[in-house]
Amino acid sequence: MAFESLSDKLQNVFKSLRSKGRLTEADVKTALREVKLALLEADVSFKVVRQFIKSVQERAVGQDVMNGLNPGQMVIKIVNEELVSLMGSETTEIALRPGSEITVIMMAGLQGAGKTTTTAKIAGKLKSKGRKPLLAACDVYRPAAIKQLQINGEKQGVEVFSMGDKQNPVDIAKGAVEYAKSHGFNVVILDTAGRLHVDEDMMQELQNIKTALDVDQTLLVVDAMTGQDAVNVSDMFNQKIGIDGVILTKLDGDTRGGAALSIKATCGKPILFVGMGEKLSDLEQFYPDRMASRILGMGDVMSLIEKAQANIDEEKARDMEQKLKKAQFGFDDYLESMSQVKKMGGISSILSMMPGMGNKMPDIESAIDEKKMGRIEAIILSMTPQERSNPDVLNPSRKKRIAKGAGVDISEVNRLVKQFEQMRKMMKQLPGMMGGKGGKRGKF
Ligand code: GDP
Repeated sequence: MAFESLSDKLQNVFKSLRSKGRLTEADVKTALREVKLALLEADVSFKVVRQFIKSVQERAVGQDVMNGLNPGQMVIKIVNEELVSLMGSETTEIALRPGSEITVIMMAGLQGAGKTTTTAKIAGKLKSKGRKPLLAACDVYRPAAIKQLQINGEKQGVEVFSMGDKQNPVDIAKGAVEYAKSHGFNVVILDTAGRLHVDEDMMQELQNIKTALDVDQTLLVVDAMTGQDAVNVSDMFNQKIGIDGVILTKLDGDTRGGAALSIKATCGKPILFVGMGEKLSDLEQFYPDRMASRILGMGDVMSLIEKAQANIDEEKARDMEQKLKKAQFGFDDYLESMSQVKKMGGISSILSMMPGMGNKMPDIESAIDEKKMGRIEAIILSMTPQERSNPDVLNPSRKKRIAKGAGVDISEVNRLVKQFEQMRKMMKQLPGMMGGKGGKRGKF
């Protein structure tokens, strides 16, 4: 998880502050020295850290202290506000032209940053908002780029405009906009060519497209795992061609998070989205306030709710709630609830957004072990429909057959059935537990 170690360290600093009745200036100084080290270890750029600490210090030893607030809480509040401000304060959306007017978005970035994947991810997001996006394959240098865009476009149900790899990218971009006009598209996303390093040719080509076309938004895709390189690349692109925003990919694999914290402060441009995985649905809007909450272990309940809303079929959830209330659910329902959890990114992804859970992740992850969930799934799938809906029929010979079918030891089948029975018993004993009327989301 991104920011894991930073989050851990900051929470430890605050824990030691909270245990003190009063804070002296020396306490604040010591705490901030720890915060500074934690930020540097998270690969936040030195200049950014220095400025950050200065701002927090000025505020922490200033007027707020005299107000006699709970000192520990006050420092956390200030650090939280400064973190939000560091990441850009406001959430920035892609600016789109109204109605049928065509918005042209140019995607830029180094090779391997995730540009082609992100282009398709964004197209999917815009499509789900009712827009009609067209993707334009302007990367004529990397052999597989056009094909990759076509495959991803197809997965998203979004058309890809291509003129092969023999044409000039400027002509392809122009051709795409013409095509969009005559075919009712209202967003054109240009997937341009990247290079391994920042070089003049690439910058010139992007500049040529910008000069020839009315580009509304230039979005830079950078790889979070490259840390400070991502920050420098953003700065360079912004100076050379001018960018409107950054998309930070592979945040799922970046344990430090330095780029996310430094980009806005360094190049002045906001992060619009973060890539959280290879799947085309793994793109999240970037919310500075929610990210700060996650870092400080205060959870990100808003994102959790949105994820649930986007992925959970309300009718199924209601149905499940009724069954749970009456303790009527069978293994099929168990399977269904597991698939809902998976759709939301798995147990660890859900837990990481819960308040106070962020820094406890390693323990919980090993306890839950998502591989185990795969085995549970295999066991349930080896049952007959009758066994799934009425687990009471599961006698030893049936269990033996199921274990064989799932390729697990019979003890695992016994354990699952026992857990399941306990759960049903619990539900029966607590009829009021599910509370309220039907229709609440996310109960499973
Ligand atoms: P391009 O050269 O910039 O067009 O990069 P690609 O779109 O081909 O992506 C390079 C690799 O990064 C591919 O294997 C992608 O699946 C992977 N990738 C892209 N975005 C993400 C992300 O947010 N998380 C992870 N884990 N992988 C990503």
